[in-house]
Amino acid sequence: MNFQWYPGHMTKAKRQMQEDIKLIDLVIELVDARIPLSSRNPDIDELGKNKYRLILMNKADLADKERTREWSAFFKEKGFFVVSLDARSKSGMKSITDIVMEACKEKIERDRKRGIKNRPVRAMVVGIPNVGKSTFINSYAGKACAKTGNKPGVTKGKQWIRLNKSVELLDTPGILWPKFEDQTVGLRLALIGSIKDEILNVDELAVELVKFLKAEYPGLLAQRYEVSEENDIIELIRAVAVNRKCLSKGGEPDYSKAAALIIDDFRSGKLGHITLERPEI
Ligand code: GDP
Repeated sequence: MNFQWYPGHMTKAKRQMQEDIKLIDLVIELVDARIPLSSRNPDIDELGKNKYRLILMNKADLADKERTREWSAFFKEKGFFVVSLDARSKSGMKSITDIVMEACKEKIERDRKRGIKNRPVRAMVVGIPNVGKSTFINSYAGKACAKTGNKPGVTKGKQWIRLNKSVELLDTPGILWPKFEDQTVGLRLALIGSIKDEILNVDELAVELVKFLKAEYPGLLAQRYEVSEENDIIELIRAVAVNRKCLSKGGEPDYSKAAALIIDDFRSGKLGHITLERPEI
């Protein structure tokens, strides 16, 4: 996780994706439910054209349920099948196969009319780093899966996970690069911890987060840290340092420690269910 991208990586990832996508019927795209747009790379729309499309809004356990509903409607409106989930929990996986079949029903019907029986739907998981691709594949495939590889017509070395008689999944996910050249996108990726903190300063991240929370989730900071939201942002973070005993070696309130605490509390969900962006309708 948390790796840096260079142009060479992106070209390689794109080329790999172009190859893999030829082998499949359905693209299962994972996004982070806290930033459903900023955690997407829209290039997948071009790469995955003519494929069936399913968006999994993952880490929904950390996101604002109302916003998740809005985002779900937004993506459905655009023609995607959508499921929100916590990929760590196996319980949400049962419904995925039904949705996969539903998304691919045209193909299944076409096969049936041509007399082709038992040809499984093939899918691959894609997404930017850290959205939960490996976690999802592990939960969805579970232990019971049998790996099937090197079938005729399949690129040598490709491993397929046979999920059941109807669905096969490419065992390695496609990695998309984030659109971090957009500053707002970069900031949101940094807030959820998908970009190294060394790149974006935690003090500044905390300022941006506090600004956002004051506006979009009023009362939340006041409640958790017993601070007044009337304060300006720097004062508010200092007050968190005092109340939470974030102290420097000399015993002074330590602003940076408080900033890091607020960011950690957000990332771990301790601040509550928060989504950082709304769909523009
Ligand atoms: P990948 O880089 O897309 O393969 O992401 P990983 O599967 O390695 O997951 C990145 C991190 O997110 C790991 O620490 C996972 O435990 C965590 N994670 C994955 N899915 C979820 C989820 O639905 N909810 C929460 N809270 N954490 C998740």
